[in-house]
Amino acid sequence: ETAAGKGTKAATGLTVLAGPTAVGKGTVSTYIRDNYPQVWLSVSATTRAARPGEVDGVHYFFKAHAEFDELAARGEFLEWAVVHGQNRYGTLRSTVQKAISEGKSVLLEIDLQGARQVKNAVPEANFVFLAPPTWEELVRRLVGRGTETPEEQRRRLETAKLELAAEPEFDHTIVNDDVQRAADELVSLMGLTPNPR
Ligand code: 5GP
Repeated sequence: ETAAGKGTKAATGLTVLAGPTAVGKGTVSTYIRDNYPQVWLSVSATTRAARPGEVDGVHYFFKAHAEFDELAARGEFLEWAVVHGQNRYGTLRSTVQKAISEGKSVLLEIDLQGARQVKNAVPEANFVFLAPPTWEELVRRLVGRGTETPEEQRRRLETAKLELAAEPEFDHTIVNDDVQRAADELVSLMGLTPNPR
């Protein structure tokens, strides 16, 4: 029996990981990219500027607004959304199709708006919600990383409340209490074998 037969939808080859701001989606995804070569972590297009150390084509495809508009108008995005009221982020159909045709398990780390669009376009994909252990822990992580102003923190926590309410829309929930454990659980849900510890 395959993993897909055990109630997961791993066989579709496409897994979407979403969850509230600051829950650690990026950390879990980076861990998977660095430790699981069987998984292809989708590279999104974005209009935001590259941060120090980010490489075009590796972390994101960095696009000017006009270029992003053009890609959207041509229907090149599987999904795209404005995230945190600022920049646009989107998944290019071509990159996902290429990875799936090469037999890779594809992981999309996207926001909730994007996850809903993928659910409309590809309902048979595997939808995984990453949840914080507790609300207090989510607040602690957001404030602790210190990358947002207090005003921005308040805004994101408001959004996070709405995002947490979306959990029932997902096939599975993983509690991010420990990055390595959460990543291994995600890999299992994708029908792959976690690395030995
Ligand atoms: P950051 O700017 O910190 O790299 O990412 C900010 C947010 O954008 C994260 O919550 C991430 O999930 C979301 N994001 C990244 N790529 C995409 C994408 O292709 N589509 C959507 N809808 N959200 C994305």
